[in-house]
Amino acid sequence: MKKYVCVVCGYEYDPEVGDVDNGVQPGTAWEDVPEDWLCPLCGVGKDEFEPVE
Ligand SMILES: [Zn+2]
Repeated sequence: MKKYVCVVCGYEYDPEVGDVDNGVQPGTAWEDVPEDWLCPLCGVGKDEFEPVE
């Protein structure tokens, strides 16, 4: 599964870790993260994230 990085603050979403504090369980692929999920550090939406090469 691909990691995604926030272009605003550099937070990295790792599907193997998820974002438990915000209800995203470990093992959640980026495509399955809710569209209303926000970056836990800076608060931008998923459209501000890019895949990590
Ligand atoms: Zn961010």
